Amino acid sequence: MQPYDGVDFLQLDDLLTDQEKQVRESVREFVSEKFMPVVAKHYQAGTFPFNLVPAMGEMGLLGCNLQGYGCAGMSDVEYGLIMMELERGDSGLRSLASVQTSLCMYPIYSFGSEAQKKKHLPEMAAGRKIGCFGLTEPDFGSNPSGMLTTAKKKGKGYVLNGTKRWITNANIADLYIVWAKLDGEIQGFLIPKDTPGLLPKEIGGKLSLRCSVTGEFVLDNCEIPEDAILPEAKGLKAALSCLSSARYGIVWGALGAAMSCYHEALNYAKEREVFGEPLAAKQLVQSKLVWMITEITKGQLLAYRLGQLKQQGKIRPQQISMGKMNNVQMALDIARVARDILGASGISDEYQCMRHACNLESVNTYEGTFDVHKLIIGEKITGIAAF
Ligand SMILES: Cc1cc2nc3c(=O)[nH]c(=O)nc-3n(C[C@H](O)[C@H](O)[C@H](O)COP(=O)(O)OP(=O)(O)OC[C@H]3O[C@@H](n4cnc5c(N)ncnc54)[C@H](O)[C@@H]3O)c2cc1C
Repeated sequence: MQPYDGVDFLQLDDLLTDQEKQVRESVREFVSEKFMPVVAKHYQAGTFPFNLVPAMGEMGLLGCNLQGYGCAGMSDVEYGLIMMELERGDSGLRSLASVQTSLCMYPIYSFGSEAQKKKHLPEMAAGRKIGCFGLTEPDFGSNPSGMLTTAKKKGKGYVLNGTKRWITNANIADLYIVWAKLDGEIQGFLIPKDTPGLLPKEIGGKLSLRCSVTGEFVLDNCEIPEDAILPEAKGLKAALSCLSSARYGIVWGALGAAMSCYHEALNYAKEREVFGEPLAAKQLVQSKLVWMITEITKGQLLAYRLGQLKQQGKIRPQQISMGKMNNVQMALDIARVARDILGASGISDEYQCMRHACNLESVNTYEGTFDVHKLIIGEKITGIAAF
């Protein structure tokens, strides 16, 4: 494997501060040295290298853009660069950091009580506790407002019933962020593992995102105390704000996967000889490589601008939708073309592009599908909801 040195056709590095470049380099090194040697083995086995999570905590990668409570307090561009470098390794590695940071720590940070923040955030930032986020249900994915999971008041606490499906880390999590309808309104709860009536299990047979564990959990008369409610996590808006934060990370993450595939295809094309000369000497192949780097460059500009807007507190969900929709589709297309350039080698786990292509099928679906983001943008520009 050629050493990875990123992709920067438009000198976009000039826009980054020294601190941002330093963060990117340290994550790049971590991925190259600790993750890349084990990813193929875990992908084949359908497991995640959880032994690396404390090191990710030490580097400040978990809850990186939150302030205090043991979090690193980094900028939103730094958060994006971290996600980009992690997903250069594998979408499963970035998923772990995204779910922990944006879907679990962010709601505790934004909607939790002071006691909940003090108790859980430092442990989660250090990677000693892993969270999961239960919004999707067997019959409600793109339309979470239809969820059937209920919470009912019982004495001072609550009793929850329902099923959450396709939940990253559901079968291994220490903490469960659960969204349920309380008196008809969506409400967030924070439930520790081993609570009676909380029944998680792994979903097997995945052909995508294999270096990430995915599960479901049933809430069967799951009784929780009154302090298990996230006091400010009220309404679908609260749940969607977590998704906005995670989707922003995916805008950058998808770039990392695309850059990895481009880098691999370029190096392969320079070394592989066909019909007496390098593949890279063929116009058809150059055309593919030029298309790739152009799309990556456009995606980098989109991600960087979204980073600026997020940092300034001006970002709108529909803008994030454009980034998620575009960059994931672009990365998926690039992964498929890279795989084609590698010929038969492209299907081997010695290379990255097939694994990225398979992963990106999931990334295209979760956190709002490609078409759902189109509908979000369509509503914004026409004023007409076409869901
Ligand atoms: C690996 C993986 C990990 C996941 N992790 C999590 C997690 O941690 N937490 C969590 O809560 N969820 C998670 N999900 C679930 C994910 O968010 C949902 O799968 C996603 O929202 C899509 O829902 P669905 O699968 O029910 O598809 P559906 O909503 O049934 O959509 C099926 C198809 O219909 C299209 N469609 C939907 N509505 C419309 C419409 N109005 N008009 C036109 N087309 C439409 C979609 O674009 C899609 O192509 C995960 C999923 C995967 C695959």
